Amino acid sequence: MASGSPAAPVAVVGAGWAGLTAALALARAGQPVHLIEAGRTPGGRARSLELDQTPLDNGQHILVGACQQTLQQIRAVDIDPESAFHAVPFGLRMFDPGGHAPAFVLEPRSPRLPALATALYRSLPGHATGVRLRALIGAAAMLHRPLRHDLPVLDWLRQRHQPEALVQRLWDPLCLAVMNTPTRMASARIFQNVLRLALNHGPQAAQLLIPARPLGELFPQPALRELRQRDACVELGRRITAIERDATHPDAPYRLHDRQGGTSTARALILATPPTATASLLPSDPGWDATHQGLAAMGAGSICTVYLRYPRPVTDRPPLQGLLDQHGQWLIPRHVAGAPHWLAIVISTADDLAPLTADARWRTVARSLARTFPELGEPETGHSVCERRATVDARVDLDHQRPPARTPWPGCYLAGDYLTHALPSTLEAAVQSGLESAHLFLEDHP
Ligand SMILES: Cc1cc2nc3c(=O)[nH]c(=O)nc-3n(C[C@H](O)[C@H](O)[C@H](O)COP(=O)(O)OP(=O)(O)OC[C@H]3O[C@@H](n4cnc5c(N)ncnc54)[C@H](O)[C@@H]3O)c2cc1C
Repeated sequence: MASGSPAAPVAVVGAGWAGLTAALALARAGQPVHLIEAGRTPGGRARSLELDQTPLDNGQHILVGACQQTLQQIRAVDIDPESAFHAVPFGLRMFDPGGHAPAFVLEPRSPRLPALATALYRSLPGHATGVRLRALIGAAAMLHRPLRHDLPVLDWLRQRHQPEALVQRLWDPLCLAVMNTPTRMASARIFQNVLRLALNHGPQAAQLLIPARPLGELFPQPALRELRQRDACVELGRRITAIERDATHPDAPYRLHDRQGGTSTARALILATPPTATASLLPSDPGWDATHQGLAAMGAGSICTVYLRYPRPVTDRPPLQGLLDQHGQWLIPRHVAGAPHWLAIVISTADDLAPLTADARWRTVARSLARTFPELGEPETGHSVCERRATVDARVDLDHQRPPARTPWPGCYLAGDYLTHALPSTLEAAVQSGLESAHLFLEDHP
């Protein structure tokens, strides 16, 4: 392919959900696309994998009905979200260690304000009426009064009269689930935006959508299939290590070098890689200061997932149970390779478990779980997968630190979950950013 000619492709580096979305949008617009991914499978931080020959996901990915762009992308690759997800009405049931009855229940009849207020009032038994009323008036303001300035979620909750019981049993776990960032650091503006998107738009937007199929089948594999059908060049297992461009020519092509010494040429470039990888591929010239400062400001949080296989089926359990003060926050029954015998335990900020071996980690989690749910008994086996850089920390003022998607190089754009304004690092943020990068390219190259 001649460098710089109209037929030279647009290279998309990274086949996570952002890169796949960008590549599909470009290919559907008739652009020649070259998708390059370092891993052997597509999907990035939301992918299927094999652990000891067991097909599992690298983590539980829960959406809400408000994740419109993600659901739209899934539909566009011919996957029906109705059958691909279990839809669960918004609600929470949290269990203390060793407690057989739930320690906290918030199960509104609908996400509308009167039903939410009633459920919140009921969730605080044993509190004085004044405390309960102040809490629900405060919570209503949290949903309906947009914040002018950002502040830590914990400070916001205190300003809005949320009693300690509600902070510990509702807001702490919810904030961690939504943003993978603890309330003392997390951005109240981003949290509020997510709450408003999910809870101010009716029951469907508030539904929790729990994948009923392996993650790879929901989007990454069908997306690759469509890209190949559209004659895109797709390369897996190829890591780009350097990018060059002759800065003296505005139309100069990009040269992408890989680990094995190979080089590809592209007329434009979408870097859909996480912040650290992106920073290592970009020039460090003075014109790039804003981009590098933004990338360097992105902190990352870990998530571990423990999978336990029980001798008896466990999928008759509720689709989502919350765990308080335990090794892990959420318990999700899963079918794995057709077997309804698996539980997945999601562990955000898993610092105390991280130093353990994978084997010791699942056994520790299984012991702690058996104390809360003795009916489960002993698992037959288990697995553990830890993602050290699972999400970008949704800290206060993150929105001011995000780098722009258009870079100083003409025709070079950034994409990824860390770029989307007002959203935490999620599939929806990744998909929105993938679409945005493709739109910017098409706008600049009519
Ligand atoms: C355990 C876990 C649980 C999560 N739970 C949820 C959830 O419940 N709900 C939700 O919405 N989100 C969840 N997330 C977050 C979600 O997975 C991410 O926000 C999203 O997948 C990020 O997509 P991305 O395309 O922006 O980045 P990535 O998925 O990181 O994609 C970047 C891709 O670039 C590739 N790459 C990097 N460097 C190079 C290079 N030099 N050359 C070539 N390729 C390269 C990588 O291999 C990767 O495939 C979770 C994440 C994890 C890890």
